[in-house]
Amino acid sequence: MILNPATPVALLAILRVSDVRPNIPPCLANNFFGIFGQQSVFKIPDSSCFELLPNTVDEGSVVPLYLPEDGPQQLVWIQESSIHKSLRTPKYEAEVADFVDWLLSKKHITYPDGQTVLFEGEKSSPVSLVYHTTNSGVVAVADQGAAHILSTRLPRFWKASPIPASPVSYLPVPDAAIERVRDLLVSLRFDALVAGIVNGISVEQMHKDIRYLTNEDGMSGIASRHSFHHGSRVAGEWLKTQFEHAGAKCRFMPFLEGFAPNVICRYDAKTESLDTVLISGHYDSRGSFGMERAPGGNDDGSGTISILNIARRIKQTGITFRNNVELVAFAGEEQGLLGSKAYAKELRESGANIILMIQGDMLAYRAPGEPPQLGFPRSIGTPEVTQLVANISAIYSPELTVGFTPACCSDHQSFHEQGYPATHLFERMGPIADPMYHNSGDLSDRPGYDLNQVRSICKVQFATLLHAAGFDLPEGVSLEDLEEHD
Ligand SMILES: [Zn+2]
Repeated sequence: MILNPATPVALLAILRVSDVRPNIPPCLANNFFGIFGQQSVFKIPDSSCFELLPNTVDEGSVVPLYLPEDGPQQLVWIQESSIHKSLRTPKYEAEVADFVDWLLSKKHITYPDGQTVLFEGEKSSPVSLVYHTTNSGVVAVADQGAAHILSTRLPRFWKASPIPASPVSYLPVPDAAIERVRDLLVSLRFDALVAGIVNGISVEQMHKDIRYLTNEDGMSGIASRHSFHHGSRVAGEWLKTQFEHAGAKCRFMPFLEGFAPNVICRYDAKTESLDTVLISGHYDSRGSFGMERAPGGNDDGSGTISILNIARRIKQTGITFRNNVELVAFAGEEQGLLGSKAYAKELRESGANIILMIQGDMLAYRAPGEPPQLGFPRSIGTPEVTQLVANISAIYSPELTVGFTPACCSDHQSFHEQGYPATHLFERMGPIADPMYHNSGDLSDRPGYDLNQVRSICKVQFATLLHAAGFDLPEGVSLEDLEEHD
């Protein structure tokens, strides 16, 4: 480790540890800036804290990072997603090389003219690359606006996340919260009522919903669900209305100027409860570089129609819950989990008790010759939650082959960072293989897009919600009645 403790003020340290959080001293815990890629970022406040590091990190390593003293100070983490080798085409490699050239040579960002980020205007600001590996880096830019524009310049499989200007709370999931998930795991048994409810999830309805969100049916007129695009606001309005028709109470949560809002919907517990189970997807998306069109059929239209169809089935069956239930469609995911970070922080500050959070992101793609699958995050998330959902999958969707993915990270990370038990549902074991990932051709009508797989995963998300939140059928309604109406 090479580090000069004489210049600690402008120093950030990247702890290359996997997500099993190290037991860190307060001087680091108070200087935590978040998890980026799969690394934790800390500021080292002084040399005495630096000296504690070797005893702190028993797994992984520390990478020092020196910031330009008089340069731009808004830092942005850039990271390549974990992708299957079939996606590493010459065209893509050229895209990455171009981007790196631009970062190293041009070194300024031109601001957009007006609202549309795809056109260049007159203002510009400097950019400097302060750290990089082959698949990640830290870029310093002038301000948040430049950070967001940077995200529109990235190669297709790269994501940008602003590093906050001041430290964020370092909150591991408390033992009591994990214990509660363990209790669910131990008591988990097949429940015929749960099966009767989740089996009513309709592929036909999902098909209608996804075609509306992508505008493949020509009805919505939504060209793009990019967070900055008008189309994402149309989608947000539509989602809110649909969830309200399904009996939920909904609100928009704006979190940053220029971004479409989060759509937060809720079913209150029948009798008072302080506990909430939250399931989610993100409704914003991203298209090919420089193209307006971002239909997001898979990323993350699939996770969005999953929670929407859970809501439709809640309405259809008339069930009520014993704990509070929230269904959330996040925005700003593609710019660094911004919508979910804002909401998870709000929940933590208001003292909300989220007992379980399950994000579905990219559920639809099935590579040729592969069975239907369900992938879980290898690093970020609560292992006990992942185990619970995996067991529920074996019970209610045994057709899914279950495994782990290095694909990282979705909105569950924001909840994980606030100390809530959380996990992510993904379409396969192994890295991302969808050739239309972050592409303007991410439609539902294409080879490999499998709504039956979305339905299987949706059933798992729904069954987990039912087991964790507890529910009751309306008086006088039986399992037979449910099956009759399917
Ligand atoms: Zn996504």
